Amino acid sequence: MEQPQPLEGFAQLGLSEQALEAIRAKGFEQPSPIQKLTIPVLLTQQCDIIAQAQTGTGKTAAFGLPVIELIADHPGGIKALVLVPTRELALQVCDEIVSLANGRISATAVYGGQSIAEQQRRLKKGVDLVVGTPGRVLDLIRRKDLKFEDLQLFVLDEADEMLDMGFVEDIEQIMEHTPEAKRTLLFSATMPARIAKLAKRYMKSPETLAVDKTKPTTGLTDQIYFEVRESDKFDALTRIIDIEPEFYGLVFCRTRNDVDTVTARLIERGYAAEGLHGEITQAQREKTLNKFRKKYINVLIATDVAARGIDIVDLTHVINYGLPQDAESYIHRIGRTGRAGKEGTAITFVSPSEYRRLSFVQKATKANIRKELLPSPSDIVAVKRARLVDEVQEIIGKNSYSDYLDMADELLVHNSPEVAIAALLRLAFKSKLDVSTYPEIRGFNVDTKGTTRLFIGMGRKDGMTPKRISEFIRKEVRIPDRKIDDIAVREDFSFVSVPFADAEDILRAFSHRKADGKPLITKAKAK
Ligand code: ADP
Ligand code: MG
Repeated sequence: MEQPQPLEGFAQLGLSEQALEAIRAKGFEQPSPIQKLTIPVLLTQQCDIIAQAQTGTGKTAAFGLPVIELIADHPGGIKALVLVPTRELALQVCDEIVSLANGRISATAVYGGQSIAEQQRRLKKGVDLVVGTPGRVLDLIRRKDLKFEDLQLFVLDEADEMLDMGFVEDIEQIMEHTPEAKRTLLFSATMPARIAKLAKRYMKSPETLAVDKTKPTTGLTDQIYFEVRESDKFDALTRIIDIEPEFYGLVFCRTRNDVDTVTARLIERGYAAEGLHGEITQAQREKTLNKFRKKYINVLIATDVAARGIDIVDLTHVINYGLPQDAESYIHRIGRTGRAGKEGTAITFVSPSEYRRLSFVQKATKANIRKELLPSPSDIVAVKRARLVDEVQEIIGKNSYSDYLDMADELLVHNSPEVAIAALLRLAFKSKLDVSTYPEIRGFNVDTKGTTRLFIGMGRKDGMTPKRISEFIRKEVRIPDRKIDDIAVREDFSFVSVPFADAEDILRAFSHRKADGKPLITKAKAK
C-alpha cells in the first residue's frame, strides 16, 4: 500500500521552506490540480495567466502562495492587488492569504459596507497586498488612499462572478491606475466568452491553465446532506453514529488538523475511532487499518490522500465532514460505500459557507443529494432504548444470565423489581439514555431571503384547517411546523409559504399526488 509523503507535491512546485511551513500549519497535504498548474508557472515565468478550475478547488492558494513568494521582502508600497466580487470573498480571500503568508507580508481587505475611515487608517500604515471589491477600491483610488506605483501583480479573482455583477467598467478604470509593467492573473470557475474578451484587451499574451472538468458518475449510494454550522458538525457526527446500530464508516476531513481534532474528540467521548493522515507512519497506518478491517474500531477519520488505497468497501457510511475539493473527490469518496449489493449512505455536512460548493458538486456530478434533518436527541434515545430492550430479550432467550441470578435475588430482598431494574439501568447507562446529553444544534436557513408560496388543491370542503394543512404536509416531509407559514385555507384550495429549499422537497414528495387530475401541490402563480 502506498504511503503518502508529507507535503509530497507541494515541495516539488518550487516553493520556499517558509511557504511549506505555512502549508503544513494549514494542514494541506497535497496541492490541488490548479495549484500544481499555476504555482510553478507563476514562480518561474514572467507571463500573465488565465486560470480556470471549479469552485472549491483552492484557487486562492493557487495565486496566493506564488504571489506571497514574489513580493515578500520587497520594499515599497502596495505590490499586489486582488479584486474579488463580494465583501464576504474579500474577507475570506484576505484571511486565506494572511494564513498562507505567516507574517511574511502584510495584507488588508477593503470593501463596501464598512467605514472607509477605518480602511484608510489601515492603508496609511502601509501594506504589501490589498484584497478589495471593485467599487471600494475605486473609491479609495479617488481619495488617493490607494496608490499602485509599486504594483507588480494584479489578480482578478472569481472573474466570471465579477463580470456577472457588472464590474467590468470598474475593473477597467482600476486598471488605468496601475503601472504598465505588472503581471495580470485572472482566476475563474468558468470561462464565458466575455472573459476572453477582457483578457485579450488587458493581458499580455496570457498563458491559459485549465483543469479538466470531471465526468459525472454516481453509484447507487443513498446521498443526503444536512445543513449544519461548522461549530455543530462534531455533535451532528455523534448523532449519526449513535442512531445507527451497526455504524461502520469513514469520515472525510479536509485537513490533517481536522482529522486530529475530530478523532481526539470522538475518542474522548468513548467512540472506537482512529484517524489517518499523511503524517502518520506506515506502521501505524497498517495497524489502524487492520483494526478497522476487523471492526475493533468502527469509525475511521481520514483525509482524501490518506484514504487512497484503502481497500475496505463494505462501509455503512461515508461522511463528508468537510466538503471535498472537487466533484471528482466527492465521487471517489462516496464510491466506498454502497458496493457489492450492500446499501450504503453518503452523508455530507454543509455549513453556510460550503453551500455554494455543494450545489456545484451536485451539478457537476448530476447527483441527487437530498436534504434531510438531523436525527433529534429524542429519536436517538428512542432508538437506543429499543435496541436495549432487544438485547435484553436476546439474553433471556439464550438463557445466558445464570451467573447473575444470585445477585438478582439479593437486590430483590429489599427492593421491588421495578426499582432494582431502574437502578441497574442507571448504573449501566448513566446519562447515555438522557436526551439532554445531546447539545442543541441550531438550524440555519441558507435561503433566508425568501419563501415560496405553494398552492394546495384541497380546502375547507375537504375538511382542511390551517393545522390540518400543516400536518398533511409534515406527514410526507420532515419540516418543522414553524417553517410552514402564512397558511390560507379557502373553500376549494389552500396556500402556504415555506422556505425555498423546503418547497422543493415538498414538491418532490407530492409529485405523484393528484387532485382532480391535476398536481395536488404546485407553486402558486404570482399575483
Ligand atoms: P476556490 O477559490 O477555487 O473556490 P478556495 O481557494 O476558496 O477555492 O479554497 C476552498 C477551500 O479549500 C479553502 O478552505 C482552502 O483553505 C482549502 N484548500 C485550498 N487548497 C487546499 C489543499 N491543497 N488541500 C486542502 N485544502 C485546500
Ligand atoms: Mg475563490
